[in-house]
Amino acid sequence: MTNPRAIRLRVVAVALCVCACIGVAQTSSNKRVDDKALRDAAKNGDEWLTYGRDYAETHYSPLKQIDTSNVRRLGLAWSWDTESPSGGRVEGTPLFSNGVLYGSLAWDVLFAVDARTGRMKWRYDPDIARQPIAGLCCGPVNRGVALYHGKVYAGLLDGRLIALNQETGKLVWQSRVIDDPGDILTSAVRVVKGKVIVGNSGAEQAVRGQFSAWDAETGKLAWRFYTVPGDPSKPFEQPELAMAAKTWNGDWWKMGGGGTVWDAMAYDPDADILYIGTGNGGPWSHVYRSPGGGDNLFLASVLAVKPETGKLVWYFQETPGDDWDFTSVQPMILADLTIDGKPRKVLLHAPKNGFFYVLDRLTGEFISGAKYARRVTWAHGLDSKGRPIEAKGDRATLDQAVTMSPGPGGAHNWQPMSYSPMTGLVYIPGQESSYTYRIDPNFKYVAGGRNLGMQGGLGPRLPNGGTGAPPPTPAAAAPAHEPEGAENEPKATGGFFVAWDPKTEKERWRVSNAGGFAGGGTLATAGNLVFHGSTAYNAETGEKVWEMDLGGADVTPITYMLDGKQYVTLFARGYPDNRLFTLVLDGNAEAPPTKEAGSPAR
Ligand code: CA
Repeated sequence: MTNPRAIRLRVVAVALCVCACIGVAQTSSNKRVDDKALRDAAKNGDEWLTYGRDYAETHYSPLKQIDTSNVRRLGLAWSWDTESPSGGRVEGTPLFSNGVLYGSLAWDVLFAVDARTGRMKWRYDPDIARQPIAGLCCGPVNRGVALYHGKVYAGLLDGRLIALNQETGKLVWQSRVIDDPGDILTSAVRVVKGKVIVGNSGAEQAVRGQFSAWDAETGKLAWRFYTVPGDPSKPFEQPELAMAAKTWNGDWWKMGGGGTVWDAMAYDPDADILYIGTGNGGPWSHVYRSPGGGDNLFLASVLAVKPETGKLVWYFQETPGDDWDFTSVQPMILADLTIDGKPRKVLLHAPKNGFFYVLDRLTGEFISGAKYARRVTWAHGLDSKGRPIEAKGDRATLDQAVTMSPGPGGAHNWQPMSYSPMTGLVYIPGQESSYTYRIDPNFKYVAGGRNLGMQGGLGPRLPNGGTGAPPPTPAAAAPAHEPEGAENEPKATGGFFVAWDPKTEKERWRVSNAGGFAGGGTLATAGNLVFHGSTAYNAETGEKVWEMDLGGADVTPITYMLDGKQYVTLFARGYPDNRLFTLVLDGNAEAPPTKEAGSPAR
């Protein structure tokens, strides 16, 4: 006999379940990452949908459950052993959407992890042959994935761009972005208006810089932009390259030229402009790359293009005639500031060369610039157009080497800076260094090989995972001098973390890192906090308010809301113990002990 009351209850239960199931279905479809979600990412503190959290790449979150008053209670919720393959660091910034964390490890291994439990949902290994890759200046790194319309996108070291099913991690499509074995992809990819944007890496191999846009659904090429001109006897791929070619000399195209696009991107949906930073010259030495000089457009520049066509809107070259591995690919930020009483739409940039730039992002006009690293000896300052005023003797010749600051690791490298609209400050993780640039008198270009034109070659990587500075070669012939005026500059101090006021071009506060290098990337929040790896500061004053020993190698933190709580997630510890750590107020999980196999790979 069935009790009528039980039947009624069952009916109610079924009805509840139907409602709940519809609710879940609606929630997940609402949270699908599409153009609107990406455009609105700045306002949506709950998720972290794209590399810099929003199209302006602010690395700023409006969340404030965790603030200066309670951040001391931040503790471990869970950690996940990434089992990242040996041979490379993890440099990626994870993404968070709909309760799941997505990210990339060394050798392009991609993953999805349930953010509630820390359990892996899927793992995708593209089976890149784990052997030295010709174009690999800086290890088999991958800085991040993109999410869009139910897919996860990543550029790979072997030149492929792939799309995976976001739910299952299964391959949906793959396209070959580049063919040259010296060319690799390490940059985080972004999606703008249905196109996956990806740039190449590997300027140390003297490849030709480029970035391209691929249809997110089909994987078909939409357009490609070369950052340096090719053989001038053939038609130029883009009209701007005819103008750029006038700034080069010799047979540069035979050696590629460099200008790779291995990190910075940002997008302004109102202006509908995509911004890209370009890399150093290849070979490094101007003497071999463009004998007779020239600015060598578009090396070390910020480029503004239309995302649907790749058509150039404006360019601004930060380091004309690069001679020092001074890339302009360092992460950039778009902000709206009031400068001299006028609202300005600006682009903020702290490239390797040691100068902080404020540009009008609609026109490319130079607004202001100043040294954000204290020791910068290659140039005295910037002129009214933003062109560096080079110090005499800042370029090595065959007869004379030059010891100068910054070095090839730059004053700022891949570690993302952040911008808080609350404080109006930019938080830059940087480093001060010096380096001796000595031209190799016996340089010969080797296709697919390492082509610097400088003595030393690329040696051990910087502890911060920078672009890789070649070790000094003490037994070289040419004596080294310093650029004129270097004796008046402060000494190099190693790592720093500086809060920079872009309106006044002055630092508000500065922390010197005992580690000597930049450390991790940064995250600013509406809780008046700025995280630098696994340390947090009062964003206004620079007072250290929290710190957790996560075993070093801290990578860019992200923050998000899940079930009413604010979480912070970051990668820490190096190989073989790289873990994804997730933190929450009053979290009390115990960090698993470091694996026996040894100390973090550096
Ligand atoms: Ca480089």
